[in-house]
Amino acid sequence: MNIICPNNPPISDGSNLSPSARQLYQWIELYTAQNGLEQPKILSICRSKAHQKQLQDDWDAGKREGLRVRPADNSYHIPDKFGLCHAFDLANSDKWLRMVGSAVVQNVPGARWGGTWIPQDLPHFDMPPGIMFTIRLV
Ligand SMILES: [Zn+2]
Repeated sequence: MNIICPNNPPISDGSNLSPSARQLYQWIELYTAQNGLEQPKILSICRSKAHQKQLQDDWDAGKREGLRVRPADNSYHIPDKFGLCHAFDLANSDKWLRMVGSAVVQNVPGARWGGTWIPQDLPHFDMPPGIMFTIRLV
């Protein structure tokens, strides 16, 4: 897998998805393949602080296309001091996101899914830093 911020310019800062978040993404790939589900579609991964601020400003101005909730001030989409971000958003259907998101929170230690939040952010998955796990399928 080679995911480098596909639709979040600029990527020239070298930021990239963290190893544990990659493992989470790979778990989703395996889970969906084993269960005959559509593969995950990346909507968004890393964002610069400026990009995150722009998304907040867009939200506040009513430009909310592609957004489910107001982007947070402190987001795992923003690269840390090592240039790693710890979150990704997926573009699959709400039905798919609910099915896969529920499986993630039940089976992947430490993983978070925005579908459990209030307000819900169905496309959002993250793996807070410092958590590693061994991929295993149910
Ligand atoms: Zn997100």
